[in-house]
Amino acid sequence: MENRKLFERARSLMPGGVSSPVRAFKAVGGDPIIVSRAKGSRLWDVDGKEYIDYLMSWGPLILGHSNPKVVQAIKEQTEKGLSYGLTNVHEIELAQRVVSAMPSVEMVRFVSSGTEATMSAIRLARGYTGRKYVVKFEGCYHGHGDSLLVSAGSGVATLGIPGTPGVPEEIAKLTLVIPYNSVEALEEVFKRYGEDIACVIVEPVAGNMGVVLPKPGFLKSIREITRHYGALVICDEVITNFRLSKGGAQEYFGQDPDITCMGKIIGGGMPLGAYGGKREVMQKVAPEGPIYQAGTLSGNPLSMVAGIATLRELFELNPYKTLEELTKRLTSGISQILKEKGIPHRINQIASMFTVFFTEEEVYDYQSAKRSDTVLFGRFFRALLKEGVLIPPSQFEAWFLSTAHTQEDIDLTLERIQKALQSL
Ligand SMILES: *Cc1c(COP(=O)(O)O)cnc(C)c1O
Repeated sequence: MENRKLFERARSLMPGGVSSPVRAFKAVGGDPIIVSRAKGSRLWDVDGKEYIDYLMSWGPLILGHSNPKVVQAIKEQTEKGLSYGLTNVHEIELAQRVVSAMPSVEMVRFVSSGTEATMSAIRLARGYTGRKYVVKFEGCYHGHGDSLLVSAGSGVATLGIPGTPGVPEEIAKLTLVIPYNSVEALEEVFKRYGEDIACVIVEPVAGNMGVVLPKPGFLKSIREITRHYGALVICDEVITNFRLSKGGAQEYFGQDPDITCMGKIIGGGMPLGAYGGKREVMQKVAPEGPIYQAGTLSGNPLSMVAGIATLRELFELNPYKTLEELTKRLTSGISQILKEKGIPHRINQIASMFTVFFTEEEVYDYQSAKRSDTVLFGRFFRALLKEGVLIPPSQFEAWFLSTAHTQEDIDLTLERIQKALQSL
């Protein structure tokens, strides 16, 4: 077994054998796979086993693995330079595309990851307002910046506590953590700290506690209350940009944030993030304004051409309706199979992303998501993997479809899930 041998070597060289924790499969048990290659909707491990892929690199690959147009764009650019450290024409083109697509974004700054985008957006909000507190929602993930790796204290509207060793209490205290979808908690926290709150950061659809949809009126309340207190709204669209619609969640829900964070699909599989927003706010970013943020590889032409090719193809295909139909074919099939087996579950789905929660009750925030049977999920994951279906190795993540997935893929997936469940 090459997988096992290579993973042991990986573990002696890299913490946990991985470059990002969840890849170690700790939440589901069993040996992680080592990937040798991928194409379209398929991925192969080093033992040559083929999987239908619904992990899709955690979201960026809405056109599937190695889309020919994206690959061609990257190939052509490699001959013309990998990085210049100066503004290039592709940056201007991608900026133009982003600004035209995202309703609230008038100016944009490119960075190299979603984490960098959210960290920079927080600094901008603090610098712009001259205030210190950040409000975030429990269960939302905004990358691994210190201010954002913070857990909820006990009770509503309390100061955050460090979510990991290495984040000083003094920093964690500046983040206020409240339950997702709770307008009441939002009002409470603003009543207590309103004059000192710089921003509210939110995933317009949560994807990192599993898919959790905003209740009607939730996003609107965030906008209204922040406006009242003079705080900014940071919409973290790292998953939802170009996933829910051409204009992301803000177009889908008619949201009007001050700053938007982007990532994943925007780079089409290359390292790329961005933050953007109202001109008045973005003009405070250096060198136009005083708030510092920089990056050696920011705006590098390889990520730019990959992003441009991805958005061009995506906007030409306009696959959102087809993708959603395909996704519903899969989720209703899964639901049917689980029902026949008498397994309690809830599926939260929007556009081409969803999560199968193993719980009977509605999932609308982190606490309700946590009621899921994670042991059962682990068994489900391993049984699917064995049958050649790769899904995210955690109950609290999203499955993604791409334009490379066909109806035949979906039907084959359902057959395999049916088979997998026989041995569960
Ligand atoms: C993935 C993700 C991030 C972090 O992006 P990285 O590129 O992994 O640093 C931030 N916010 C959300 C909503 C994400 O899903």
